[in-house]
Amino acid sequence: MNITNKTSDLTISCETGNYHTMCPISCVSWLYQTIAGSFFLVIGTKTCGYFLQNALGVMIFSSPRYAMAELEEADISSQLNDFKELKRIMSQIKSDRNPSVIVCILTCTPEIIKMDLEGMAPLLEAELNVPIVVARANGLDSAFTQGEDVVLAAMVGHCGQAAQGSTPSALPKPGVRPSAEPQPEGNSEVKSLVLFGSLPSSLANQLEGELKRQGVNVKGWLPSARYSDLPLLGENVYVCGVNPYLSRTATALIRRGHCKYTASPFPIGPDGTTAWITSICKTFGIVPTGLIEREAKIWESLRPSMDLLKGKTVFFMGDNLLEISLARFLVRCGAVVLEVGIPYLDRRYQSAELALLEQTCKDMGVPLPRIIEKPDNYFQTIRIKELLPDLVITGLAHANPLEARGITTKWSIEFTFAQIHGYSNSAALLELLTRPLRRNNNLNVSQGSLKQQNYVPG
Ligand code: SF4
Repeated sequence: MNITNKTSDLTISCETGNYHTMCPISCVSWLYQTIAGSFFLVIGTKTCGYFLQNALGVMIFSSPRYAMAELEEADISSQLNDFKELKRIMSQIKSDRNPSVIVCILTCTPEIIKMDLEGMAPLLEAELNVPIVVARANGLDSAFTQGEDVVLAAMVGHCGQAAQGSTPSALPKPGVRPSAEPQPEGNSEVKSLVLFGSLPSSLANQLEGELKRQGVNVKGWLPSARYSDLPLLGENVYVCGVNPYLSRTATALIRRGHCKYTASPFPIGPDGTTAWITSICKTFGIVPTGLIEREAKIWESLRPSMDLLKGKTVFFMGDNLLEISLARFLVRCGAVVLEVGIPYLDRRYQSAELALLEQTCKDMGVPLPRIIEKPDNYFQTIRIKELLPDLVITGLAHANPLEARGITTKWSIEFTFAQIHGYSNSAALLELLTRPLRRNNNLNVSQGSLKQQNYVPG
Protein backbone atom coordinates (compact mmCIF):
# COMPACT_ATOMS: atom_id res chain seq x y z
CA MET A 1 0.00 0.00 0.00
CA ASN A 2 1.29 3.45 -0.80
CA ILE A 3 2.16 5.67 2.09
CA THR A 4 2.02 9.42 1.70
CA ASN A 5 5.38 10.79 2.70
CA LYS A 6 4.53 14.43 2.27
CA THR A 7 4.29 16.42 5.46
CA SER A 8 0.68 17.05 6.32
CA ASP A 9 -0.74 20.04 8.19
CA LEU A 10 -3.76 18.04 9.34
CA THR A 11 -4.07 17.54 13.08
CA ILE A 12 -5.16 14.02 13.95
CA SER A 13 -5.70 13.20 17.60
CA CYS A 14 -7.25 10.39 19.55
CA GLU A 15 -9.77 10.43 22.41
CA THR A 16 -11.22 7.72 24.64
CA GLY A 17 -13.41 5.84 22.14
CA ASN A 18 -16.50 6.52 24.26
CA TYR A 19 -18.88 7.10 21.36
CA HIS A 20 -22.16 5.84 19.92
CA THR A 21 -22.14 3.77 16.75
CA MET A 22 -23.97 0.79 15.29
CA CYS A 23 -22.69 -2.72 15.92
CA PRO A 24 -20.78 -4.08 12.87
CA ILE A 25 -23.16 -7.06 12.61
CA SER A 26 -25.58 -4.57 10.98
CA CYS A 27 -23.61 -5.15 7.74
CA VAL A 28 -25.68 -8.29 7.13
CA SER A 29 -28.60 -6.03 6.17
CA TRP A 30 -26.90 -4.74 3.02
CA LEU A 31 -24.48 -7.59 2.26
CA TYR A 32 -27.16 -10.28 1.91
CA GLN A 33 -28.78 -8.08 -0.72
CA THR A 34 -25.53 -7.50 -2.65
CA ILE A 35 -24.61 -11.22 -2.83
CA ALA A 36 -27.62 -12.95 -4.35
CA GLY A 37 -28.44 -16.28 -2.74
CA SER A 38 -26.11 -15.79 0.24
CA PHE A 39 -27.24 -16.46 3.80
CA PHE A 40 -25.81 -14.71 6.86
CA LEU A 41 -25.83 -16.57 10.16
CA VAL A 42 -25.05 -14.37 13.15
CA ILE A 43 -23.80 -16.45 16.07
CA GLY A 44 -24.37 -14.54 19.27
CA THR A 45 -26.69 -13.80 22.15
CA LYS A 46 -30.10 -12.22 22.57
CA THR A 47 -28.35 -8.83 22.82
CA CYS A 48 -27.24 -9.16 19.19
CA GLY A 49 -30.71 -10.40 18.21
CA TYR A 50 -32.42 -7.44 19.86
CA PHE A 51 -30.03 -5.07 18.14
CA LEU A 52 -30.62 -6.56 14.68
CA GLN A 53 -34.36 -6.69 15.18
CA ASN A 54 -34.55 -3.03 16.19
CA ALA A 55 -31.86 -1.54 13.96
CA LEU A 56 -33.07 -3.11 10.73
CA GLY A 57 -36.66 -2.02 11.18
CA VAL A 58 -39.25 -3.25 8.68
CA MET A 59 -36.65 -5.39 6.85
CA ILE A 60 -37.19 -8.19 9.36
CA PHE A 61 -40.70 -8.76 8.02
CA SER A 62 -39.47 -9.56 4.49
CA SER A 63 -37.98 -13.06 5.13
CA PRO A 64 -34.43 -11.70 4.99
CA ARG A 65 -31.58 -14.07 4.22
CA TYR A 66 -30.04 -13.75 7.65
CA ALA A 67 -30.74 -15.31 11.02
CA MET A 68 -29.41 -15.51 14.57
CA ALA A 69 -27.96 -18.66 16.12
CA GLU A 70 -28.58 -17.75 19.77
CA LEU A 71 -26.12 -19.20 22.24
CA GLU A 72 -27.54 -20.80 25.36
CA GLU A 73 -25.98 -21.40 28.78
CA ALA A 74 -25.12 -24.95 27.70
CA ASP A 75 -23.18 -23.61 24.68
CA ILE A 76 -21.18 -21.23 26.80
CA SER A 77 -20.33 -23.89 29.40
CA SER A 78 -19.44 -26.37 26.59
CA GLN A 79 -22.10 -28.87 27.61
CA LEU A 80 -23.37 -28.80 24.04
CA ASN A 81 -21.11 -29.69 21.15
CA ASP A 82 -20.54 -26.60 18.95
CA PHE A 83 -19.92 -28.63 15.83
CA LYS A 84 -23.11 -30.70 16.15
CA GLU A 85 -25.22 -27.65 16.98
CA LEU A 86 -23.90 -25.67 14.02
CA LYS A 87 -24.29 -28.61 11.68
CA ARG A 88 -27.91 -28.97 12.75
CA ILE A 89 -28.65 -25.26 12.22
CA MET A 90 -26.81 -25.05 8.90
CA SER A 91 -28.51 -28.22 7.59
CA GLN A 92 -31.82 -26.55 8.30
CA ILE A 93 -30.70 -23.37 6.50
CA LYS A 94 -29.56 -25.48 3.55
CA SER A 95 -32.85 -27.32 3.24
CA ASP A 96 -35.01 -24.19 3.77
CA ARG A 97 -33.10 -21.59 1.73
CA ASN A 98 -30.57 -23.50 -0.44
CA PRO A 99 -27.90 -20.76 -0.08
CA SER A 100 -24.92 -20.32 -2.42
CA VAL A 101 -22.76 -19.49 0.61
CA ILE A 102 -23.29 -19.28 4.36
CA VAL A 103 -21.47 -16.35 5.96
CA CYS A 104 -21.04 -16.91 9.71
CA ILE A 105 -20.67 -13.75 11.75
CA LEU A 106 -18.97 -14.34 15.08
CA THR A 107 -20.11 -11.77 17.64
CA CYS A 108 -18.65 -10.73 21.00
CA THR A 109 -19.64 -13.84 22.96
CA PRO A 110 -18.13 -16.47 20.60
CA GLU A 111 -15.03 -14.25 20.55
CA ILE A 112 -14.81 -14.29 24.34
CA ILE A 113 -15.41 -18.04 24.67
CA LYS A 114 -12.89 -18.58 21.84
CA MET A 115 -15.19 -20.53 19.55
CA ASP A 116 -12.97 -22.00 16.84
CA LEU A 117 -15.30 -21.69 13.89
CA GLU A 118 -12.43 -21.25 11.41
CA GLY A 119 -11.28 -24.73 12.47
CA MET A 120 -14.77 -26.22 12.09
CA ALA A 121 -15.66 -24.49 8.79
CA PRO A 122 -13.78 -26.89 6.42
CA LEU A 123 -15.44 -29.91 8.11
CA LEU A 124 -18.88 -28.29 7.96
CA GLU A 125 -18.28 -27.33 4.30
CA ALA A 126 -17.35 -30.90 3.45
CA GLU A 127 -20.35 -32.40 5.26
CA LEU A 128 -22.95 -29.91 4.01
CA ASN A 129 -21.40 -29.18 0.59
CA VAL A 130 -21.99 -25.42 1.00
CA PRO A 131 -19.14 -22.85 1.11
CA ILE A 132 -18.79 -21.26 4.54
CA VAL A 133 -17.14 -17.89 5.15
CA VAL A 134 -16.23 -17.04 8.75
CA ALA A 135 -16.04 -13.36 9.71
CA ARG A 136 -15.33 -12.01 13.18
CA ALA A 137 -17.47 -8.86 13.10
CA ASN A 138 -18.25 -7.77 16.64
CA GLY A 139 -18.48 -4.75 18.86
CA LEU A 140 -15.24 -5.63 20.66
CA ASP A 141 -12.97 -4.50 17.88
CA SER A 142 -14.87 -2.81 15.09
CA ALA A 143 -17.56 -0.22 14.42
CA PHE A 144 -20.60 -0.19 12.15
CA THR A 145 -19.41 -0.25 8.49
CA GLN A 146 -16.24 -2.11 9.46
CA GLY A 147 -18.47 -5.20 9.59
CA GLU A 148 -18.46 -5.16 5.79
CA ASP A 149 -14.68 -4.82 5.86
CA VAL A 150 -14.31 -7.92 8.05
CA VAL A 151 -16.62 -9.99 5.81
CA LEU A 152 -14.89 -8.92 2.58
CA ALA A 153 -11.43 -9.56 4.07
CA ALA A 154 -12.62 -13.09 4.99
CA MET A 155 -13.89 -13.59 1.42
CA VAL A 156 -10.46 -12.83 -0.03
CA GLY A 157 -9.42 -16.33 1.13
CA HIS A 158 -12.23 -17.79 -1.00
CA CYS A 159 -11.16 -16.13 -4.26
CA GLY A 160 -9.21 -18.22 -6.74
CA GLN A 161 -5.77 -17.18 -8.06
CA ALA A 162 -5.52 -15.86 -11.60
CA ALA A 163 -3.12 -17.68 -13.93
CA GLN A 164 0.32 -16.06 -13.97
CA GLY A 165 2.13 -16.49 -17.27
CA SER A 166 2.10 -20.19 -18.14
CA THR A 167 1.71 -21.25 -14.49
CA PRO A 168 -1.56 -23.10 -13.97
CA SER A 169 -3.96 -21.33 -11.64
CA ALA A 170 -4.09 -22.35 -8.01
CA LEU A 171 -7.01 -24.53 -7.05
CA PRO A 172 -9.85 -22.60 -5.47
CA LYS A 173 -10.92 -23.34 -1.93
CA PRO A 174 -13.56 -26.03 -1.36
CA GLY A 175 -16.97 -24.96 -2.60
CA VAL A 176 -15.59 -22.13 -4.75
CA ARG A 177 -16.10 -22.37 -8.47
CA PRO A 178 -13.49 -20.55 -10.53
CA SER A 179 -14.72 -17.83 -12.86
CA ALA A 180 -16.00 -19.17 -16.18
CA GLU A 181 -14.21 -16.39 -18.04
CA PRO A 182 -11.06 -17.60 -19.83
CA GLN A 183 -7.89 -16.13 -18.36
CA PRO A 184 -5.01 -14.89 -20.50
CA GLU A 185 -2.31 -17.50 -20.69
CA GLY A 186 1.37 -16.94 -21.26
CA ASN A 187 1.01 -13.18 -20.83
CA SER A 188 2.11 -12.04 -17.41
CA GLU A 189 1.83 -8.35 -18.38
CA VAL A 190 -1.97 -8.18 -18.73
CA LYS A 191 -3.27 -5.98 -15.93
CA SER A 192 -6.81 -6.36 -14.70
CA LEU A 193 -8.89 -4.27 -12.33
CA VAL A 194 -10.96 -5.58 -9.43
CA LEU A 195 -13.05 -3.14 -7.38
CA PHE A 196 -13.92 -3.86 -3.77
CA GLY A 197 -16.83 -2.59 -1.71
CA SER A 198 -20.50 -3.50 -1.54
CA LEU A 199 -22.72 -1.35 -3.77
CA PRO A 200 -26.17 -1.94 -5.27
CA SER A 201 -25.80 -3.39 -8.79
CA SER A 202 -27.18 -0.25 -10.50
CA LEU A 203 -24.52 1.86 -8.79
CA ALA A 204 -21.75 -0.65 -9.54
CA ASN A 205 -22.80 -0.54 -13.22
CA GLN A 206 -22.63 3.27 -13.21
CA LEU A 207 -19.05 3.26 -11.87
CA GLU A 208 -18.06 0.53 -14.34
CA GLY A 209 -19.56 2.66 -17.13
CA GLU A 210 -17.48 5.69 -16.07
CA LEU A 211 -14.29 3.61 -16.20
CA LYS A 212 -15.25 1.98 -19.49
CA ARG A 213 -15.61 5.43 -21.04
CA GLN A 214 -11.90 5.93 -20.24
CA GLY A 215 -10.99 2.52 -21.67
CA VAL A 216 -10.66 0.64 -18.35
CA ASN A 217 -12.61 -2.60 -18.03
CA VAL A 218 -13.56 -3.85 -14.58
CA LYS A 219 -12.72 -7.55 -14.32
CA GLY A 220 -14.63 -8.23 -11.13
CA TRP A 221 -16.02 -7.04 -7.83
CA LEU A 222 -15.50 -8.11 -4.25
CA PRO A 223 -18.19 -8.95 -3.25
CA SER A 224 -19.53 -10.22 -6.56
CA ALA A 225 -23.24 -10.22 -7.31
CA ARG A 226 -23.09 -14.05 -7.09
CA TYR A 227 -20.75 -15.94 -4.81
CA SER A 228 -19.66 -18.23 -7.66
CA ASP A 229 -18.34 -15.16 -9.53
CA LEU A 230 -15.81 -14.07 -6.91
CA PRO A 231 -12.89 -12.42 -8.75
CA LEU A 232 -9.62 -14.18 -9.44
CA LEU A 233 -6.70 -12.50 -7.69
CA GLY A 234 -2.99 -12.39 -8.44
CA GLU A 235 0.07 -10.29 -9.13
CA ASN A 236 -1.32 -8.60 -12.22
CA VAL A 237 -4.63 -7.77 -10.56
CA TYR A 238 -4.95 -4.13 -9.49
CA VAL A 239 -7.47 -3.47 -6.76
CA CYS A 240 -9.17 -0.22 -5.81
CA GLY A 241 -11.71 0.46 -3.07
CA VAL A 242 -14.99 2.33 -3.41
CA ASN A 243 -15.56 2.85 0.31
CA PRO A 244 -13.32 4.43 2.95
CA TYR A 245 -13.85 1.72 5.58
CA LEU A 246 -12.28 -1.24 3.79
CA SER A 247 -8.69 -1.11 5.03
CA ARG A 248 -8.62 -4.74 6.25
CA THR A 249 -9.90 -5.90 2.86
CA ALA A 250 -7.19 -3.85 1.10
CA THR A 251 -4.55 -5.44 3.34
CA ALA A 252 -5.93 -8.95 2.73
CA LEU A 253 -5.98 -8.37 -1.04
CA ILE A 254 -2.35 -7.26 -0.97
CA ARG A 255 -1.03 -9.91 1.43
CA ARG A 256 -3.18 -12.95 0.70
CA GLY A 257 -4.39 -12.16 -2.80
CA HIS A 258 -0.98 -10.78 -3.94
CA CYS A 259 -2.79 -7.92 -5.69
CA LYS A 260 -1.51 -4.39 -6.26
CA TYR A 261 -3.38 -1.61 -4.53
CA THR A 262 -4.30 1.65 -6.25
CA ALA A 263 -4.39 4.39 -3.60
CA SER A 264 -7.12 6.86 -4.39
CA PRO A 265 -9.72 9.17 -2.85
CA PHE A 266 -13.17 7.57 -2.87
CA PRO A 267 -15.82 8.19 -5.55
CA ILE A 268 -18.03 10.28 -3.28
CA GLY A 269 -18.97 13.71 -4.70
CA PRO A 270 -17.89 14.92 -8.16
CA ASP A 271 -14.39 15.85 -6.90
CA GLY A 272 -13.84 12.41 -5.34
CA THR A 273 -15.17 10.64 -8.44
CA THR A 274 -12.81 12.56 -10.74
CA ALA A 275 -9.85 11.80 -8.45
CA TRP A 276 -10.86 8.11 -8.24
CA ILE A 277 -11.15 7.67 -12.01
CA THR A 278 -7.91 9.61 -12.56
CA SER A 279 -5.97 7.38 -10.11
CA ILE A 280 -7.21 4.20 -11.82
CA CYS A 281 -6.43 5.58 -15.27
CA LYS A 282 -2.92 6.45 -14.09
CA THR A 283 -2.41 2.87 -12.91
CA PHE A 284 -3.37 1.65 -16.38
CA GLY A 285 -1.25 4.28 -18.17
CA ILE A 286 -4.31 6.05 -19.61
CA VAL A 287 -4.74 9.84 -19.82
CA PRO A 288 -8.38 10.45 -18.77
CA THR A 289 -10.47 12.61 -21.08
CA GLY A 290 -13.45 14.86 -20.46
CA LEU A 291 -13.43 14.53 -16.66
CA ILE A 292 -12.76 18.20 -15.88
CA GLU A 293 -15.62 19.35 -18.11
CA ARG A 294 -17.93 16.65 -16.69
CA GLU A 295 -17.11 17.64 -13.11
CA ALA A 296 -17.52 21.37 -13.83
CA LYS A 297 -20.98 20.73 -15.32
CA ILE A 298 -22.05 18.85 -12.19
CA TRP A 299 -20.79 21.59 -9.86
CA GLU A 300 -22.78 24.07 -11.94
CA SER A 301 -25.95 22.02 -11.53
CA LEU A 302 -25.33 21.80 -7.76
CA ARG A 303 -24.86 25.54 -7.32
CA PRO A 304 -28.34 26.37 -5.89
CA SER A 305 -27.94 23.78 -3.11
CA MET A 306 -24.30 24.74 -2.52
CA ASP A 307 -25.43 28.31 -1.75
CA LEU A 308 -27.24 26.91 1.29
CA LEU A 309 -23.95 25.56 2.64
CA LYS A 310 -21.79 28.61 1.94
CA GLY A 311 -19.94 29.59 5.11
CA LYS A 312 -21.94 27.15 7.26
CA THR A 313 -20.01 25.36 9.99
CA VAL A 314 -20.28 21.56 10.19
CA PHE A 315 -19.28 19.17 12.98
CA PHE A 316 -19.02 15.38 12.50
CA MET A 317 -19.44 13.40 15.70
CA GLY A 318 -18.29 10.32 13.79
CA ASP A 319 -19.69 6.80 13.63
CA ASN A 320 -19.47 5.28 10.13
CA LEU A 321 -15.97 6.00 8.71
CA LEU A 322 -17.40 7.94 5.73
CA GLU A 323 -16.60 11.18 7.54
CA ILE A 324 -13.35 12.22 5.79
CA SER A 325 -14.87 11.85 2.31
CA LEU A 326 -18.05 13.69 3.32
CA ALA A 327 -16.05 16.47 4.99
CA ARG A 328 -13.95 16.92 1.85
CA PHE A 329 -17.12 17.17 -0.29
CA LEU A 330 -18.71 19.64 2.14
CA VAL A 331 -15.63 21.87 2.13
CA ARG A 332 -15.66 21.84 -1.68
CA CYS A 333 -19.34 22.90 -1.49
CA GLY A 334 -18.33 25.98 0.54
CA ALA A 335 -18.85 24.79 4.13
CA VAL A 336 -16.34 25.08 6.97
CA VAL A 337 -15.80 21.75 8.73
CA LEU A 338 -14.83 22.27 12.36
CA GLU A 339 -14.26 18.74 13.57
CA VAL A 340 -14.25 15.31 11.96
CA GLY A 341 -14.82 12.52 14.47
CA ILE A 342 -14.10 9.06 13.07
CA PRO A 343 -14.16 5.66 14.83
CA TYR A 344 -10.98 4.41 13.15
CA LEU A 345 -8.59 6.05 10.71
CA ASP A 346 -6.20 3.92 8.67
CA ARG A 347 -3.84 6.65 7.54
CA ARG A 348 -2.31 4.51 4.79
CA TYR A 349 -5.62 3.37 3.29
CA GLN A 350 -7.09 6.89 3.53
CA SER A 351 -3.84 8.67 2.60
CA ALA A 352 -5.09 9.93 -0.78
CA GLU A 353 -8.43 11.02 0.72
CA LEU A 354 -6.66 12.90 3.55
CA ALA A 355 -4.39 14.62 1.02
CA LEU A 356 -7.43 15.66 -1.06
CA LEU A 357 -9.19 17.00 2.05
CA GLU A 358 -6.14 19.09 2.90
CA GLN A 359 -5.77 20.35 -0.67
CA THR A 360 -9.50 21.19 -0.88
CA CYS A 361 -9.34 23.23 2.35
CA LYS A 362 -6.34 25.15 0.98
CA ASP A 363 -8.06 25.73 -2.39
CA MET A 364 -11.25 26.95 -0.70
CA GLY A 365 -9.29 29.12 1.77
CA VAL A 366 -10.84 27.57 4.90
CA PRO A 367 -9.11 26.24 8.01
CA LEU A 368 -8.31 22.53 8.19
CA PRO A 369 -10.72 20.54 10.35
CA ARG A 370 -9.53 18.87 13.51
CA ILE A 371 -9.66 15.09 13.03
CA ILE A 372 -10.49 13.05 16.15
CA GLU A 373 -10.07 9.31 16.01
CA LYS A 374 -12.09 7.30 18.56
CA PRO A 375 -13.94 10.41 19.77
CA ASP A 376 -15.48 10.90 23.18
CA ASN A 377 -19.11 11.95 22.74
CA TYR A 378 -19.18 13.73 26.12
CA PHE A 379 -16.23 15.97 25.21
CA GLN A 380 -17.75 16.49 21.78
CA THR A 381 -21.02 17.80 23.25
CA ILE A 382 -18.99 20.30 25.25
CA ARG A 383 -17.18 21.42 22.09
CA ILE A 384 -20.52 21.63 20.24
CA LYS A 385 -21.78 23.91 23.00
CA GLU A 386 -18.75 26.16 22.59
CA LEU A 387 -18.64 26.20 18.79
CA LEU A 388 -22.41 26.21 18.06
CA PRO A 389 -22.01 24.67 14.58
CA ASP A 390 -24.70 25.22 11.94
CA LEU A 391 -24.96 21.48 11.31
CA VAL A 392 -23.96 18.46 13.38
CA ILE A 393 -23.75 15.11 11.58
CA THR A 394 -24.45 12.51 14.24
CA GLY A 395 -26.12 9.22 15.11
CA LEU A 396 -29.61 8.71 16.47
CA ALA A 397 -28.49 8.84 20.10
CA HIS A 398 -27.58 12.53 19.91
CA ALA A 399 -29.74 13.83 17.08
CA ASN A 400 -32.94 14.63 18.96
CA PRO A 401 -31.23 15.81 22.18
CA LEU A 402 -29.17 18.27 20.12
CA GLU A 403 -32.20 19.39 18.09
CA ALA A 404 -34.00 20.08 21.39
CA ARG A 405 -31.11 22.38 22.27
CA GLY A 406 -31.43 24.32 19.00
CA ILE A 407 -28.59 22.57 17.14
CA THR A 408 -29.46 21.39 13.62
CA THR A 409 -28.52 17.77 13.01
CA LYS A 410 -28.33 15.26 10.20
CA TRP A 411 -28.56 11.52 10.90
CA SER A 412 -25.28 9.99 9.82
CA ILE A 413 -26.76 6.52 9.25
CA GLU A 414 -28.50 7.71 6.08
CA PHE A 415 -25.17 8.09 4.28
CA THR A 416 -24.50 4.38 4.72
CA PHE A 417 -27.75 3.29 3.09
CA ALA A 418 -28.30 6.04 0.50
CA GLN A 419 -26.65 5.95 -2.93
CA ILE A 420 -23.91 8.55 -2.66
CA HIS A 421 -21.21 7.32 -5.08
CA GLY A 422 -20.29 8.63 -8.52
CA TYR A 423 -21.14 11.72 -10.53
CA SER A 424 -24.80 10.83 -10.93
CA ASN A 425 -25.51 10.70 -7.19
CA SER A 426 -23.81 13.99 -6.27
CA ALA A 427 -27.12 15.88 -6.27
CA ALA A 428 -28.74 13.24 -4.03
CA LEU A 429 -25.79 13.42 -1.61
CA LEU A 430 -25.97 17.20 -1.44
CA GLU A 431 -29.72 17.02 -0.96
CA LEU A 432 -29.22 14.73 2.04
CA LEU A 433 -26.64 17.06 3.58
CA THR A 434 -28.72 20.18 3.11
CA ARG A 435 -32.14 18.72 4.00
CA PRO A 436 -32.08 19.93 7.65
CA LEU A 437 -31.05 23.43 6.53
CA ARG A 438 -33.93 23.49 4.02
CA ARG A 439 -36.30 22.33 6.72
CA ASN A 440 -35.16 25.20 8.94
CA ASN A 441 -35.68 27.64 6.09
CA ASN A 442 -39.15 26.24 5.43
CA LEU A 443 -40.04 26.47 9.11
CA ASN A 444 -38.48 29.90 9.23
CA VAL A 445 -36.35 28.89 12.23
CA SER A 446 -33.72 31.34 13.37
CA GLN A 447 -30.94 28.94 14.32
CA GLY A 448 -28.78 31.61 15.93
CA SER A 449 -31.44 32.65 18.39
CA LEU A 450 -32.44 29.06 19.08
CA LYS A 451 -28.89 28.01 19.78
CA GLN A 452 -28.21 30.86 22.13
CA GLN A 453 -31.42 30.42 24.09
CA ASN A 454 -31.81 26.67 24.31
CA TYR A 455 -28.45 24.98 24.65
CA VAL A 456 -28.28 23.36 28.04
CA PRO A 457 -25.63 20.64 28.11
CA GLY A 458 -25.80 17.45 30.10
S1 SF4 B 1 -21.66 -5.30 20.38
FE1 SF4 B 1 -21.33 -7.52 20.58
S2 SF4 B 1 -22.98 -8.24 21.90
FE2 SF4 B 1 -23.56 -6.19 21.19
S3 SF4 B 1 -24.82 -6.55 19.37
FE3 SF4 B 1 -22.72 -6.27 18.67
S4 SF4 B 1 -21.79 -8.29 18.55
FE4 SF4 B 1 -23.69 -8.47 19.78
